[in-house]
Amino acid sequence: DATVKAAEAAQGALNCFTSIDGDKAKEMAQASDARRAKGEAGALDGAPIAIKDLFGVYGVETTASSNILKGFKPRYESTVSQNLWDAGAVFFGKTSMDEFAMGSSNETAATGPVVNPWRAKGSTENLVPGGSSGGSAAALAAGISYGATGTDTGGSIRQPAAFTGLVGAKPTYGRCSRWGVVAFASSLDHPGPFGKTVKDTALLTQVMSGHDPKDSTSYPGAVPDMVSAVSRGVKGLKIGIPKEYRVDGMPSDIDTLWEKGAQWLKEQGAEIVEISLPMTKYALPAYYIIAPAEASSNLARYDGMRYGQRVEGDDLTDTYEKTRGQGFGDEVQRRILIGTYVLSAGYYDAYYLKALKVRRKILEDFNTAFEGVDAILTPTTPSAAFGIGSKADADPIEMYLNDIFTVTANIAGIPAMSVPAGLDKNGLPLGLQVITKALDEETMFAVGGALE
Ligand code: GLN
Repeated sequence: DATVKAAEAAQGALNCFTSIDGDKAKEMAQASDARRAKGEAGALDGAPIAIKDLFGVYGVETTASSNILKGFKPRYESTVSQNLWDAGAVFFGKTSMDEFAMGSSNETAATGPVVNPWRAKGSTENLVPGGSSGGSAAALAAGISYGATGTDTGGSIRQPAAFTGLVGAKPTYGRCSRWGVVAFASSLDHPGPFGKTVKDTALLTQVMSGHDPKDSTSYPGAVPDMVSAVSRGVKGLKIGIPKEYRVDGMPSDIDTLWEKGAQWLKEQGAEIVEISLPMTKYALPAYYIIAPAEASSNLARYDGMRYGQRVEGDDLTDTYEKTRGQGFGDEVQRRILIGTYVLSAGYYDAYYLKALKVRRKILEDFNTAFEGVDAILTPTTPSAAFGIGSKADADPIEMYLNDIFTVTANIAGIPAMSVPAGLDKNGLPLGLQVITKALDEETMFAVGGALE
């Protein structure tokens, strides 16, 4: 009851929910109570968890913050949300996001921008919470729930976590099943959690993970003990600082916190070494070819026949065109245009195939780096949260640059998390990113725990 009331009270100011469901919350809380009474309490017993509107929750409207899916109530439950409920967590609402998870500011949501609960010192300007999982980040940062789910295709958990002073984790590709999650770019989509602490986040990741035969890319191996790893310490670990992540024009506060983070790990017994990831500069261009290519294919299913909204036209083609023209927002249409262009017969080799080759090279960069280091430390974002409207109307490339430090881990499919690193001179939170090799979430959480 308290969570539902807090969500309803915050909605006017933050606009972070797409729906709040007090009845379902009550039902699930009672079920969780009943299990506890039988001595069957789960790891998340009674904990309210906010769910990004990309995850199918049985019978609850799931829109991906798009008009085209308005009214769509799935008759299935995503594996990740089911894993949370099986551990005793309680559903109470779905959170806003950039439409189809395309964006870095939550400004492309059909229900309008989400407001970051943080403001710069002495300012009344509303800031973005980051994106695309901005509603989840805002809801958790405002203290409404215990944890939240997100998805990270190019940074959509880590960047909003950094902008709102939270921990956000993206485990190895395939750790968390994509089944029942609306697809953006299938080879890059990673479900994951937001938590207030590294330990909460490790617990949520552990519960959400596990092999799922319904997702053909789900990892079949065992889930490691991520929670114990948090207090393992960093003594004897080698931490790499990639020189290519020192980009021009980055605020000096970010550099300072990055150095402080490295120093802190050193004081706890880690060895800090400079490393090189020479392909870094090609990551963003490769991402913005591969992600739209896959999106253009995944979004072909929204034709007005099978899901959500239909706008009747004079004939079938006209109906498709009207449905998609009116149902998708500008950014989604832009991605579909880019995606179909790079996949078209004349350009496939020049753009899409080339981007796949770059992807392989980026993976090789990381493989080489991890022969010498256990983890990599970088800033999560090149700036702190910015004002609502301040970038959305500019050149879209301005917005894409937000993902410069985060897309590399999606391209390589390796674990990465953002940990709050401190405040900048305006009193806004900044995050540090920890990256490890595939399947080594334990080291990621150990370094995250040491940074906290
Ligand atoms: N900002 C990136 C994009 O717009 C990443 C989004 C995401 O991770 N879902 O594609």
